[in-house]
Amino acid sequence: METEVVSELMEHLSDKKLEAALKVNTTVRAAMGEFLRDRGFIEIPPVIFSTVTDPLNHPVYDPSFEYEGTRYALTKSMIFHKQIIVQKFPKIFTFSPNIRLEMPEKARTGRHLLEFTQLDLEVKGATREDLIKLGEELFIHTLEKVIEKHSQDLHDLGRSLSVPHAPFKRYKFEDAVKKYGSEFETILSKEAREPFWIVDIPLKEREFYDRESDVSSGILNDMDLIYPEGYCEALSGGEREFDLDRIMERIRRKGQTYEQFKWFLEFARGGLELSTGFGIGIERLVRYICGFERIEDVHPFPKVPGKVSV
Ligand code: AMP
Ligand code: MG
Repeated sequence: METEVVSELMEHLSDKKLEAALKVNTTVRAAMGEFLRDRGFIEIPPVIFSTVTDPLNHPVYDPSFEYEGTRYALTKSMIFHKQIIVQKFPKIFTFSPNIRLEMPEKARTGRHLLEFTQLDLEVKGATREDLIKLGEELFIHTLEKVIEKHSQDLHDLGRSLSVPHAPFKRYKFEDAVKKYGSEFETILSKEAREPFWIVDIPLKEREFYDRESDVSSGILNDMDLIYPEGYCEALSGGEREFDLDRIMERIRRKGQTYEQFKWFLEFARGGLELSTGFGIGIERLVRYICGFERIEDVHPFPKVPGKVSV
């Protein structure tokens, strides 16, 4: 078993496709960091484990451990840490390593790893509209830099890529479901030639911490960016709930316990203000740019759901 896993890894590490992906990855991270720093964002270090992490809205195995009598979990996302720190520093970002022990069947999608990195950012006092605009500008800037630096690599990969035009098209979640059914994201992504947004996401589809619209009950001020050409979801984001009573009510309606989020609730009791943010998966972005079928081809040490890896 060890011999097979290691020889497969050695072969993967010598793959020209991986080399191109890692070069693109280097430019993507630099371009994104530069874009955000130029706009006054500060970079915070990642949180690798914590007393509180993202509950997510889909089942995963839970890696947690006890240290000196306190329970910690590996970070699934830095949502709570973002919401807390943005109260003091109004524009923050981080390259956040996330561990999500996805069910083995997720390997089929070609876009799930057990360990990946999000560029995760948050802005105090901003609305979803502000973050949609920021997201479009960030995406365009990143693609421009990649195309400028890697036209030869993209050519060698047989990938033709163009810079999309803002504003990106938008679909409301419920309209898209009505028109295309539950597989709307895949259908629309396959049809599209440019990235687009899914907005106004129903409450049951997302975690408790995103803010419900004041005008449309049951609808969150959330957005997903979807890649064209069938590459599906690029990022998720939204306005965050800041009202303690509403936060508690949402946890209760999810059937979750206050105990699970007590560390966050303690901060929320001190008062939160509105913030909005999003997280964009770096490996998925590099996969899209390189035009790869499978996400593991962009990572030197990929952790594929259901597979033993080094
Ligand atoms: P989420 O808030 O759960 O939508 O996660 C934010 C972003 O991280 C997603 O839009 C993806 O780009 C990326 N992401 C989430 N889960 C995974 C995964 N298992 N493997 C790779 N990327 C992921
Ligand atoms: Mg998502």
